[in-house]
Amino acid sequence: MSELKNVKHLQCINCGKTYPMEPGRYTCDDCGPKLGILDFVYDYEYIKTKVSKEKFAANKDNSMWRYEAFMPVTEGGPRPKLRVGWSPLYKADVLGDAIDLDTLYVKDDGINPTASLKDRASAVAVARAMEEGAEVICCSSTGNAASSLAGNAASVGIKSVIFVPGRAPIGKVSQLKIFGAEVMSVQGSYEETFKLSAEAIDRYGWYNRNAAINPVMVEGKKTVSLEICEQMDWEVPDWIVFSVGDGCTIAGAWKGYKDLHEAGLIDRLPKVAGIQAEGCAPLAHAWERGDGEEWNPEVENTVADSIAVGVPRNAVKALRAINESGGVWETVSDEKILDTMRLMGKTSGVFGEPAGCAGMAGLQVLVEKGVIKKEEIVVCAVTGNGLKDVNNAIKAAGDPMKVEPTIEGLNEALKKIGYE
Ligand SMILES: *Cc1c(COP(=O)(O)O)cnc(C)c1O
Ligand SMILES: [Zn+2]
Repeated sequence: MSELKNVKHLQCINCGKTYPMEPGRYTCDDCGPKLGILDFVYDYEYIKTKVSKEKFAANKDNSMWRYEAFMPVTEGGPRPKLRVGWSPLYKADVLGDAIDLDTLYVKDDGINPTASLKDRASAVAVARAMEEGAEVICCSSTGNAASSLAGNAASVGIKSVIFVPGRAPIGKVSQLKIFGAEVMSVQGSYEETFKLSAEAIDRYGWYNRNAAINPVMVEGKKTVSLEICEQMDWEVPDWIVFSVGDGCTIAGAWKGYKDLHEAGLIDRLPKVAGIQAEGCAPLAHAWERGDGEEWNPEVENTVADSIAVGVPRNAVKALRAINESGGVWETVSDEKILDTMRLMGKTSGVFGEPAGCAGMAGLQVLVEKGVIKKEEIVVCAVTGNGLKDVNNAIKAAGDPMKVEPTIEGLNEALKKIGYE
């Protein structure tokens, strides 16, 4: 039911109804855009003819497109030009020691071309838009989806129209402006921003990059797990830990492992830990209450702007990722996030923005609670680069010492920090 050999169809995650893959098909007609999120269903027998560990080992494409067999795109079809993915996976021994874990890996997705994991989703969105001949792509975003879309679209000359909430950090807004996007800074919450973009997409017929509405986003984001697995020589960790806003990233991370399992490349699955900021944790709180797939909107009160999502758009996929994997939700305070930003920086050399550090902050809490054990193998993703939001970084790390330009002045300063 699809032009693509590897895709069978789209399926509604609410009622199970299937749809062919076609331009403009984003949600289920019966269930509507709130519940009727679609999911790609693949033909794994076909995919198995395309992939193997040996083929991956011989593949010289050091980007997410090495996994095109697992994505809803034409083999060898048009792609945006930026090099997205194949980000480093560090074995973070010093940080592991500091938080009492024997084996900790850090997946640094802040090194992507526009400096966040969102590049993975935007790259697929732009590839799809190119295949479908779209001239304008639109999204609403807490910031990173926007900058990644603007950059990837710019690389192939596609126009982007971006809706961001007024509170988006200047680093992210500056990226949008430099990438030539039309930027609408909406003077309201992310929820209001999202609604306005949805209305505009309906009215003007733009390609829709919104992260729940368009199911290709999860398919792009899942490449983070495909990479982690290959980088660990197909060993499956006990836990993967991600920060969660809309829920698209964690749903993707889980789907990546499930895909590899279906394709026969791995024989077990990790548990998934979803981390939200205490000041905005509709999904974690729903899980704590035992509410199943029901959740309540929350206010957006956290420094971690990228995960300040009071009305998550991919809630059901995210909740299922945790439930199916036997994982957990956890919440972290802003203080813990900023402490972790500093700790992670000085013990691993990786600099994350607040939402990028929230996963690591939650991991510490889970280790302290004994939910994650010292000897378990853990991969934690850093989802966005710290340079996007230097104001919060300076808040976390403090200002540098001021020194008079003389050796006496330096001596005074060194004394203060214990060098005598
Ligand atoms: C978007 C984002 C997340 C969360 O991803 P969702 O799909 O919204 O759950 C986490 N960290 C960073 C840096 C992000 O930009
Ligand atoms: Zn449906």
